[in-house]
Amino acid sequence: MPLPARSILLRNTAALRPTSRSFNTSSKALSRLRQPGEPTGPNEPPSHTSSPPSKSPLKVWPIVFIFCAGSFMFKKIVDQRKEEGQYQSRGPCFKMPAIENLGATTRTSPLWSPDKVTVIFVLGGPGAGKGTQCSKLVSDYGFKHLSAGDLLREEQDRPGSEFGEMIKTYIKEGTIVPMEVTIQLLENAMKKAMEEDNKSTFLIDGFPRKLDQAHAFERSVVPSKFTLFFDAPEDVMLERLLDRGKTSGRADDNIESIKKRFRTFVETSMPVVDEFESQNKVIKVNATQTPDEVYQDVQARLKEWGIEPITLKFVKTDA
Ligand code: AMP
Repeated sequence: MPLPARSILLRNTAALRPTSRSFNTSSKALSRLRQPGEPTGPNEPPSHTSSPPSKSPLKVWPIVFIFCAGSFMFKKIVDQRKEEGQYQSRGPCFKMPAIENLGATTRTSPLWSPDKVTVIFVLGGPGAGKGTQCSKLVSDYGFKHLSAGDLLREEQDRPGSEFGEMIKTYIKEGTIVPMEVTIQLLENAMKKAMEEDNKSTFLIDGFPRKLDQAHAFERSVVPSKFTLFFDAPEDVMLERLLDRGKTSGRADDNIESIKKRFRTFVETSMPVVDEFESQNKVIKVNATQTPDEVYQDVQARLKEWGIEPITLKFVKTDA
């Protein structure tokens, strides 16, 4: 038979009562520790068979030990990587990975599309005036200038670099640093310029100096738009380099290194220019003229490729 509403209410209230009472009881009970074997309630017989409660502090030690060992190992790994120079102030995104992790050249498809990222290679013998022309182009066209030689020298001087000694030897000998290192440095610098300065048009100066570099870069980073080639005979370049050597402080601006660099350029870098020329992707400029004359030629040729300066020039008129 269904109970009247009042009796249901009373039953429910009664159902709540033991809970609150048992809470009070248990809080009182907390004031003293129950002994092993002591009954847990008024109706429960004492137990003489059970083991001690599992609150022994001894069981916490394995966890504490694992935590301490883990923290110690983590700190050791971080310290070791710091020593290797992998944590730099620029942030982990642009760090130079260890040699076995240089991944830039291992990709089978380009990282960026040439529709989004424009790359203009700048080539010419040592002393052809690539750097001078690049700085003019940067201020008028807003390109991001990346010099392979500068990036290599920076890496060579970076404390903790595992490539420093190797780079130093190649530069002194005027030979080509292995492409894995050079391409990784370029890719890191491009990423940085994209993320920090929102750049997407790059002048890559002194690169590619060897066919394998050209192929690897276009396959795994981005295909180039064209190559700007500064053409000058060795006697003109030699005179400029010896003059620069008086103040540059560069280890390779001396007659022995210069001769080796000329040979490397003819034997190793000219085939790159020839290959791009066969694809109609070379702008060749006579680099024996004065810097301003060379620059005028460069600007005229860039215009033919649809590339215009971004800065406004104020011209004085008679009116
Ligand atoms: P640069 O500052 O362009 O005259 O280059 C100086 C030296 O850096 C060269 O003689 C090479 O030893 C090295 N170097 C520059 N660019 C490259 C590159 N693209 N690949 C390999 N080594 C390079």
